[in-house]
Amino acid sequence: MLRPRRKKKDVPGGLFVKCDGCGEMVYRRNVQERLQICPECNYHFRIGARERVRLHTDEGSFDERDADMAACDPLHFVAAKAYADQIKSYMQRTGLNEAAIYGTCRIEDRPAVFAAMDFRFAGGSMGSVVGEKITRAAELALAEGLPLVTTAASGGARMQESAYSLMQMAKTCAALKRLSDAGGAYISIMTHPTTGGVTASWASMGDVIIAEPGALIGFAGRRVIEQTINQELPADFQTAEFLLEHGFLDIIVERGQIKQTLARLIGYLS
Ligand SMILES: [Zn+2]
Repeated sequence: MLRPRRKKKDVPGGLFVKCDGCGEMVYRRNVQERLQICPECNYHFRIGARERVRLHTDEGSFDERDADMAACDPLHFVAAKAYADQIKSYMQRTGLNEAAIYGTCRIEDRPAVFAAMDFRFAGGSMGSVVGEKITRAAELALAEGLPLVTTAASGGARMQESAYSLMQMAKTCAALKRLSDAGGAYISIMTHPTTGGVTASWASMGDVIIAEPGALIGFAGRRVIEQTINQELPADFQTAEFLLEHGFLDIIVERGQIKQTLARLIGYLS
């Protein structure tokens, strides 16, 4: 699981912010005005689930479902910290109850079901709540005859939930298969980073898979793979651009163009 780096670039603070893409100090306001994109190198800074809703759906149209669903710590897991305490602290820090939200919305006036992940909450890890919300989003899309759109941002499975977390991979995929069998449309957007069990399940199931430029997308990390196969990997391995070239993605879309791309795709698919 990738851990979120705290208080570095997605928290308002000084006038300047260091870009992870080019390493330059860039004027924070310029980054904000460009939808959290570096004006020097086009690096797409991470944004939260609420910002995804604001950017990709019609203003005021998002009607959130199951907002109060929260993790229930079935294993009473304790490592360096108790899992229950970690959850509380993520809730306080992010204002969210979990690493995903979902609901109905309109996208350029077309009705849809929209789900978004937030990397700030436990590194966007998928536990039972994230899996349940994605599953319910797919079931809602099926019941209402609406297209489903998701944005992924994840470090992988929620290790503190062990097998409960891994089960979500099969559960989400089964729900998406039912949606697909009924002729429902699913568009998946992969953002930086999308890894582990989320890549290996619902995020890769889209009829159309979109990625933001430069997004890191993969299953296991580079070092693990290099050690396993005893080979050095190409420098751009696991970037959106590399994956597009190898047929894993359908299209790379700049953040500011995603909404109109979604509207167009929903038009084609419905
Ligand atoms: Zn930059």
